[in-house]
Amino acid sequence: MSNETLFEKIIKRDVPADILYEDVEAIAFKDINPQAPFHVLVCPKVPIKMLSNSTAEDENLLGRLMRIGASLAKDAGFGENFRVVINNGSDAGQTVFHLHLHFLAGRKLVWPPG
Ligand code: 5GP
Repeated sequence: MSNETLFEKIIKRDVPADILYEDVEAIAFKDINPQAPFHVLVCPKVPIKMLSNSTAEDENLLGRLMRIGASLAKDAGFGENFRVVINNGSDAGQTVFHLHLHFLAGRKLVWPPG
């Protein structure tokens, strides 16, 4: 059985996704179950399981993921109002164990989150 995560399968085009951006180290695609009018997932291509598994070597990459998502939100007209979420671990709501940043925009978002 494959140990590949769903997002590795999306990266390899084994699973279809609505991809908005891709480069050698990152990919961004629409969430299949959007929680806001704009809901994009930004992932590194290297399969870092979760933020708490990242290392100092990943610092530039993590920064790039944030800037990619911010740029996509801006392109979609939400440059000033969006939320970035990382669910780290199952108790925090993580269901896909391949690090990803959620970018949400297009509606009023409440705080605190559930
Ligand atoms: P997590 O709960 O791990 O923070 O986020 C996983 C996200 O992946 C969820 O928001 C979920 O809707 C999304 N997702 C699950 N399956 C698929 C899929 O097959 N395609 C896409 N594009 N998103 C998915």
